[in-house]
Amino acid sequence: MGSSIDSYITLVTTSAVLNVFLCLYSYFRRAEIPSSKIFMLYTAALCVYTFGYAIQLASNTLEQMKFWTVVQYMGMPFSASLGLLLMIQYTGKTLSRKATIAMFIIPSITLFMVATNDYHHLFYKQVWLRTDTAVPLMDISIGQWYVVQGAFTFSCLLCACLILIGQWKHTKKMYRRQLLTLITSQLIPMVAAFVYLLGLTPGGLDPVPVLMCITSTMYIWAILSSRLLTIVPIAKDSIFESMREGVLVLDSSNRLVDYNKAMCLMLPELEVSMIGKKWDDIWLSLAGETFPVEYGREGLQTDLYWQLEGHTVCYQVRTSYVFNKGAQVVGILIMLIDITEQRFLQEQLKQMAYFDGLTKIYNRTQFLNKGKEILNDAKLTFRPAAFILFDIDHFKRINDTYGHDVGDKAIIHVVTVCNRYLNSEILFARYGGEEFVIAMPGASLQDGEQLAEQLRMALFNDPLEVEGVLISLTSSFGVAQYSGEEDSLESLLRDADRALYESKRNGRNAVFAYSASLA
Ligand code: GH3
Ligand code: MG
Ligand code: MG
Repeated sequence: MGSSIDSYITLVTTSAVLNVFLCLYSYFRRAEIPSSKIFMLYTAALCVYTFGYAIQLASNTLEQMKFWTVVQYMGMPFSASLGLLLMIQYTGKTLSRKATIAMFIIPSITLFMVATNDYHHLFYKQVWLRTDTAVPLMDISIGQWYVVQGAFTFSCLLCACLILIGQWKHTKKMYRRQLLTLITSQLIPMVAAFVYLLGLTPGGLDPVPVLMCITSTMYIWAILSSRLLTIVPIAKDSIFESMREGVLVLDSSNRLVDYNKAMCLMLPELEVSMIGKKWDDIWLSLAGETFPVEYGREGLQTDLYWQLEGHTVCYQVRTSYVFNKGAQVVGILIMLIDITEQRFLQEQLKQMAYFDGLTKIYNRTQFLNKGKEILNDAKLTFRPAAFILFDIDHFKRINDTYGHDVGDKAIIHVVTVCNRYLNSEILFARYGGEEFVIAMPGASLQDGEQLAEQLRMALFNDPLEVEGVLISLTSSFGVAQYSGEEDSLESLLRDADRALYESKRNGRNAVFAYSASLA
């Protein structure tokens, strides 16, 4: 018995030393550990408890044993409350100041009861030295308050356990090992205390302080291997969840492992039940086509248009490999970035840069760009090209008579009428004010004159109607043709302008083609 008591004392002392280590660790790493204060107090309380118990076991007289029992109780009852507080904090819950203080009422009374037990015998009914053992050991019969403290300790451990188990569902797979460690660390002393109270432990010795040794070792293992209690996993988790970008994680065989909140909002069709399934199959069921981006290829991006609540949104899809420390590919990250607004603004800028705001046809700048292309093409293919410039006649009168708004309507009306006669090969632009320009690839001067005549007639026969009033509109046209290497777009437009001037000079509502005599 003597040697087994010795080994028992050694184990309890080891447990105490491990707790000193944990306490110091949390002190020195307090900046990274979110609940460092409570963890420090918790391990310190366990330390006092286990050291007190070890010395009590090693004591020879009842007086010494009673004294070290009081020391033990400076730690033990408080460790129960602190353990529960620690788990509450770990799971991100908060307790009011009052409730926190209330959790230390019973432990404080217990300490008082143990220290003054000789006067009231409410904690231990009786304390005596055992005679059946080789070394002196203290035995007790329990008093009323002992039951209260026992129930309190048990409840704290049970609550901590339940809180942790309740957290299981909301914990990401990668942090579940931590959670399991914590649950076990609460379960072990709980079961042990229960077995002890039933009187089933060998030699009637309390196994809890020894088992604390296992619990502390588990804590140390978890701290070192999976950074238990440091802020890193919690921070990573909250970054993942609070990201604006949708992120999903695939394992090395392209099965869905995890996705964040933003992803749920971007692809509401995603469901938890899809976790574990191949991403290609999931995507096929969601979009009816194969996933548009090759997995893992850094730098590859694709725009993905998606219907979200009746609107078309645009996501940029990026993927990248996830490597482990040994540089092996362990998974794939797929990121979705909402670029709907960006694309919308780009589209708007393009509209503003290339198109006329009033008529929605090309503006002068874009005409000059595209016109040069047509001309270059004509030069390369030895084909002709015709250019038409036209201007609404007496437009100032329309503005002056009916107002600027009606003037605008007249400009739009001219475009609408002309568009009926123009095919997609023909370039049509607003050249300025109420002047328009047309480029006809592959067309001769006669073709140009013919089209101009068609447009002139159409405009003449189709007056603008505003609130029942018919406003007749005519236009004057000038046509020029590309005919040789030396012609530039500018010179062709100048020629067309001269011909247009000729139309104006000849009473308007006319078509004139440029000829050398106009130069
Ligand atoms: P002409 O037959 O000689 O071409 O006579 P005109 O009155 O059309 O003369 P001119 O081309 O010099 O006048 C064009 C007028 O068109 C001047 C300007 O106030 C007006 N204008 C230019 N752009 C717009 C526009 O976007 N909306 C409106 N309502 N008027 C415009
Ligand atoms: Mg005019
Ligand atoms: Mg004009």
